[in-house]
Amino acid sequence: ARPQVVVIGGGYGGATAARYVRMWSDNRIDVTLIEPNASFISCPLSNLVLGGSRRIGELTMSIDALAGKHGVRIVRDTVSAIDADKRTLALAGGQTLSYDRLIVSPGVDFMWGELPGMLKPGAQDSILHAWKAGAQTTALRAQLEAMPDGGVYAMTVPPAPYRCPPGPYERASQVAFYFSRHKPKSKVLILDANDDVVSKGPLFKKVWKERYGGIIEYRPAFRTADVDAASRSAISELGDQVRADVLNVIPPQRAGSIAVRSGLANANARWCAVDFLTFESTQANNIHVLGDAIAVAPLMPKSAHMANQHAKVCAAAVVDLLGGRAPGAQPMLTNTCYSFVSDHEVIHVASVHAYDADKKTLLVVSGSGGVSSGPSPLEGEYALNWARNIWADTLA
Ligand code: FAD
Repeated sequence: ARPQVVVIGGGYGGATAARYVRMWSDNRIDVTLIEPNASFISCPLSNLVLGGSRRIGELTMSIDALAGKHGVRIVRDTVSAIDADKRTLALAGGQTLSYDRLIVSPGVDFMWGELPGMLKPGAQDSILHAWKAGAQTTALRAQLEAMPDGGVYAMTVPPAPYRCPPGPYERASQVAFYFSRHKPKSKVLILDANDDVVSKGPLFKKVWKERYGGIIEYRPAFRTADVDAASRSAISELGDQVRADVLNVIPPQRAGSIAVRSGLANANARWCAVDFLTFESTQANNIHVLGDAIAVAPLMPKSAHMANQHAKVCAAAVVDLLGGRAPGAQPMLTNTCYSFVSDHEVIHVASVHAYDADKKTLLVVSGSGGVSSGPSPLEGEYALNWARNIWADTLA
C-alpha cells in the first residue's frame, strides 16, 4: 500500500509540508491536507491593511494548486480528534481517516480564560484581536477609520512567547503612520505585558521617537489581567484601567486547540515539544508538529519563515522515515522577519539556527544574522519579494 501522510492545517507550516512531501517523494506518498478555510490569508503584510496601504484581498490566495499541480488531496473540514494509538483522526464532518505519519500545524489559539471579561456575550465582537488575518483585520481597520481625530487606539501585547514577536510593534507603527496622515491629533498607546519591546527594540523605539513622537506612547510591564468590553478598557494586574476609543486586545496564546486537546501540548500545557531532527512530537510517535504550535528552541521566533523551515526539515524526515532511511542529522534553519514602519520603509531581524547534537536543540549560529541599521525603502522591496517568494514556496 502507498504510504499515507495526513496534514492538519493549510497555513504556512502545513501547506509547505504537504507540498514538499509530495515533491521530495516523487509523488510516491499520498498526502491529505485538512483545512476548514476556503482560502489562505497571509498574516505577514496584514498590518499594512491597518495602515491603509494594502487590502486584505491582496493577501488572500487559493490553495488549489496544491491539489492541481502537486496532487495533494484537500479536505475542507476541521479535525476534531486524533487517536495516536490507532493512527486515525476524526473530522467534524463525521469522516475518519488513517495515517502512517501525521503532520500537525494548527497555528495558535487564544487563552481567553486569562481575560475573563472577553468571555462575556458580545465582547469578542467589539474588541478585536486581528491576530489571525481575515475578517478581524478589515473590521479593525473599519474601527480605526470610524474613530474621530483626537481619539486613542490602545493595543495590548501578550507575554512572550506569542505569534510574531515584532508584529505588535509593526502594527503600532502602521496605525501611527495612518494617524500621522489622516488623524494627526490621535494617539497610539502600546500596553505591553513584557518589560521591554520584544523584538528590534532599539530600532522601533528610534522610529517611534523620530517619526511618530507625538503619536505613539509605549508602556512596558502593563500586564493585562482583564478587559471591560463595554467601556473599551484594559485593566492591568495592578488594577490600572486604561480606556480607549479603539481597543485592540492581542490575547495570550498557546498551540492550536486540536494539539492541546490531543495531549500534544506537553510544555506547560501550552506548546508542543518536538525532536528538532524530525519535528516528531516528544509525546506521541508518528505525529509531527510544526510552526507556531511548537515549544521553540532558544531565540527561535514564532514566524511564517520559521514555520516554512520546520516544514522542510519535517518533510525530508517523513520522506526518509517512510522510505526506511534514517533522517538527516544536521538541519540548518534561517529566519528573517521584516517590519514595515511606513507604507514602504522596512527594518529586519535575521538569524541562522543549527542543530546541536549534544544539546539536542537548534542554536543560533554565533555571528550570523543581525538587524537593520535603520528603515529603508530598499528593505521595503526585499520585504515584498520575501512575501512573494514564501507564498510561491507554500502554495504554488
Ligand atoms: P497558520 O499559518 O496560522 O496555519 C494554521 C492553519 O491550521 C490555519 O489555516 C487553520 O485554519 C488550520 N487549523 C487549525 N486547527 C485546525 C483543525 N483542528 N483542523 C484543520 N485545520 C486546522 N511571520 C513572518 O515570518 N513574517 C512576517 O512578516 C509576519 N508578520 C505577521 C504579522 C501579523 C499581524 C501576525 C499575526 C503574524 C505574522 N507572522 C509573520 C507570523 C505568521 O503568520 C505565523 O508565524 C505563521 O502563520 C505560522 O504558521 P502555522 O502553520 O503555524 O499557522
